[in-house]
Amino acid sequence: MAQFCWSDITIDMGKGDRSFSCTDLSSMPQAADPTMSFVHEYIHYLQSLGSVAGARWLSEMIDVAVISALLLDEHIPPNAVGSKPAHQVPPFLPIVDILRKHPDGAARSMPIQTRFQSLHAEGARIFSHHSYDYAGKASHFEVVRQRVGGEDYWGYVTVRRRFQPFNVTFIAENMARALDQRLKRACGFGAHSWATGRCEDELYNGLRHVLEQSRYAHNVAPQYLGDIAIVLCALALATGQPDAALEDMLERLADVRTLGGLPVTVARELQLHLGDNLHATPFNNVIDQIQRGPAAAMARVQYMEIYEHLKCLQKVGNTVLHDPSFFVDGETTWQRVISWLGNFGLTRVVASDGPVQAVGPAASRVALSELLEQAWRVLT
Ligand SMILES: [Zn+2]
Repeated sequence: MAQFCWSDITIDMGKGDRSFSCTDLSSMPQAADPTMSFVHEYIHYLQSLGSVAGARWLSEMIDVAVISALLLDEHIPPNAVGSKPAHQVPPFLPIVDILRKHPDGAARSMPIQTRFQSLHAEGARIFSHHSYDYAGKASHFEVVRQRVGGEDYWGYVTVRRRFQPFNVTFIAENMARALDQRLKRACGFGAHSWATGRCEDELYNGLRHVLEQSRYAHNVAPQYLGDIAIVLCALALATGQPDAALEDMLERLADVRTLGGLPVTVARELQLHLGDNLHATPFNNVIDQIQRGPAAAMARVQYMEIYEHLKCLQKVGNTVLHDPSFFVDGETTWQRVISWLGNFGLTRVVASDGPVQAVGPAASRVALSELLEQAWRVLT
């Protein structure tokens, strides 16, 4: 099964039994399986890193990666970790190459480890696929709040009576699944199906099942279920607290006041409803941080590749803020996917037999993935 790996933001098409080679990928968009799988993972990448939580996490990880390299080559003293080391070191160092020449775990005992551990835990929490035991009295598909890893999360109770938090992965999965189903319709991929099972039901389609409940029927017509799920997910991920935003929007959908029925009117009304919770500052901060933070010490060629990559992710967030019905406007055709690739770019893609150079108009951007991969390697 193809997979989006959050630790080094790579779309891995070569994993497991349903794996794809470079040749399989070159048969897109005619072949249903690689096309559906690739688009699903691509949406994952866009939405996970185009989210406020994902963008913040990524920005912090870049800092940690650069500081690790500076520590390993003794460009900064160990006690400089908390400050802004960029101004104290010779600029334009080949950070990725510095990390690459050090062995696995070389930075494991360095003072940056504490910051890395908390990012590691945060990443595991926001990108986790897990559900948790639920001991409360709510019935299934009810939205409830529960403590997960020291933090309260909104989520829902599954049929097996588990608590499924509305974390970034849950929301990105539901959005990716609803969008890949739109692609399936537009491309006429009738034979393609995802394996049925608990994950498919509770995780990938969980929000859909919540929205099917009668309390939302006033605002959610059955034919728009998938599109309204996409709108909810896109808006939630553009806020600082996606779980709370999703709960808030679901409450608004349960209200008897109409939201206009069509996905586009629902999107506009919910955008107004969320109000100040939606703003571009976090996305802009990511760009600001790379210019002013530790990454300023990076060799210009490496820096520019990463900077351009982050600008693409900033565009995803800003597009949704500008137009929350962007992803449900018109059919999800392959041409449409190609326009996203042109606009939002592409991260590193690997197939079962090696790296994928490009998909459609977009070359795989590898610098950021290589930086993160090397940082995880020396830090763990
Ligand atoms: Zn997925």
